[in-house]
Order: sequence, then structure tokens, then C-alpha cells
Amino acid sequence: MDGNSTIFSLILSGEIPSHKVYEDDFVYAFLDINPLSRGHTLVIPKENSPTMDTLSVNAASSLGSVLPKICRAIMKATGAKDYNIIQNNGESAGQTVPHLHFHIIPRYSDSKHSFLWNPNLIDHSDATKLSKLILQELEL
Ligand code: AMP
Repeated sequence: MDGNSTIFSLILSGEIPSHKVYEDDFVYAFLDINPLSRGHTLVIPKENSPTMDTLSVNAASSLGSVLPKICRAIMKATGAKDYNIIQNNGESAGQTVPHLHFHIIPRYSDSKHSFLWNPNLIDHSDATKLSKLILQELEL
């Protein structure tokens, strides 16, 4: 593996095996080796980007255009009606493999896992400033 390679590069090159569920020229999807539920799937771009903010427009577009049909196939194959899509960026966000990936996690009526979520009340004064800053960044 070179400096930018991850275990997912080895999966893409076929050097280590995976349970493939989808592949095209730009996207690969396979079952997670430590699933949170039956059918837990990872969808990755073939482009080697660690996080969403560094992904090319073309790779992002390819990923976005196939996610819905991969979700539909997983739901049909597993019988699950509900699912979460999780996408972690960076260590403090819980990312352990620095190659961008979407988790598709089917939920069943007896699903026990939970995603901790402790929301705060918005600070409207800060939100007014912050939304302007983000808007400005996007207009650059
Ligand atoms: P994250 O914590 O968002 O970076 O997720 C990385 C995911 O990759 C975890 O859910 C791991 O179980 C999964 N994973 C790591 N190695 C493999 C592998 N060889 N095959 C399939 N999934 C893997």
C-alpha cells in the first residue's frame, strides 16, 4: 500500500476479498465486515478521496446517481423497510478508514443499535453570522 492507500484500495484492486453487491466504472459497494445489521453495506467511489470535501464533482455525481438503486436492492434482498445512511468524515467524526464511504444500514423491528444524538438549542445570533459565512464561502 502507498501512503494514500487504505484497506479499501486493496478491496478495489482485488488484493483482499469482499462481498461485492455493486460495481461500475466509478463506484463499488460491498458488505461491511462488521455489520451493525444484516445487509449493512459500504458504498465507495473508486477515486481515492478520504472525505466528502475532497471528492471530485464527477465522483460525487456517480455516487449520488447509484445510491438510490443500491438502497432499493438492499431493501428488497433483506426485506427491511427502513435504513440509515451514515457517512463519517475524519477521526473525530468516527471515521476509521480514510477512503470516503457511505454506510447503508438496514433497520429491522428488533434493531437494537442506536446512534447517540444529543441535540442543543440553536443560538440564533450565532446562526445568523454562521449562515452568512457559509453562504459567502459558497459564493466564492
Ligand atoms: P468508518 O468507521 O465510517 O470509517 O467505517 C469503516 C467500516 O469499514 C467499518 O464499519 C468496518 O467494519 C468496515 N471495514 C473495515 N475493513 C473492512 C473489510 N475488509 N471489508 C469490509 N468492511 C470493512
